[in-house]
Amino acid sequence: MYRGRFAPSPTGPIHLGTARTALVAWLAARAAGGTLVLRVEDLDTPRVRPGALEAMLDDLRWIGLDWDEGPDVGGPFGPYLQSQRRERYDAAIERLRASGRVFACTCSRKEIESVASAPHGEEPIYPGTCRSGPSHPERPAAVRFRFEAKDARAFDDGVHGAIGAGLGAGDFVVRRADGVHSYQLAVVVDDLAMEITDVVRGDDLLSSTPRQLALIEALGGRAPRYAHVPLVLGPDGQRLAKRHGAVTVREQREQGVLPETLVGRLARTLGLLDRDEALAARELVSRFSLAKIAKGPVTMG
Ligand code: GLU
Repeated sequence: MYRGRFAPSPTGPIHLGTARTALVAWLAARAAGGTLVLRVEDLDTPRVRPGALEAMLDDLRWIGLDWDEGPDVGGPFGPYLQSQRRERYDAAIERLRASGRVFACTCSRKEIESVASAPHGEEPIYPGTCRSGPSHPERPAAVRFRFEAKDARAFDDGVHGAIGAGLGAGDFVVRRADGVHSYQLAVVVDDLAMEITDVVRGDDLLSSTPRQLALIEALGGRAPRYAHVPLVLGPDGQRLAKRHGAVTVREQREQGVLPETLVGRLARTLGLLDRDEALAARELVSRFSLAKIAKGPVTMG
């Protein structure tokens, strides 16, 4: 049985890179004759824009995708909006607390940065300050997961193959001091509760996978398979962004691009077609295999 999911965050219009990853998640589920769940990652509420969810679902349908379970179609594993699932995340934290896998952390970002060394642009590795007790008991505390050295383990990826050990190091936050649950926790609780067998997502999340595997193990769950789709870059080699032109599905639509034309372009950059060809997403199902997906970042725009 195959249960896949696509889990966008409604923080803005659907980007071509996101549409491309969604296409792969959809093709993988359809090619396997499985179920596709659409789950909305709307926990970080200040960044969630009103109307963005409806626009996002409309753009995904416009490129020819559909889903069997989701906020608009319902299903047996709902609700499908993370903002309606907070009590499940708190229950998971209680279980992690009972088994000693989390601790209260009162460090500020500044304090962490001043003791931890961080590779340029990356999150600093938590130095372990509050592991034996909160350093500032008077402050509101975040909850951190105790990520041991053995947790930074190797795993197999459906696109990239063997991924070596070492990614994801450092104790990470599962609930911020302001009460907002972290992406890492919510994604794991939901993937387990929704009985997801296969995760397809962007490879900017590769280093999150060991963290999620450690959480799954600590919660006694069964890990899904993971496949990470390479990112889309602009012509200058930087991550595809506004300055590169019509980089959202909405802008392409407004410019009169047909869904089949866009699907064909996305499929070519994925390595599923040899040349640009206009075709419907469903026409790609029989030609799809994860093994065909190009492993390096691609350029569009
Ligand atoms: N919400 C994440 C994103 O939009 C995806 C999370 C996931 O697939 O695990 O990038």
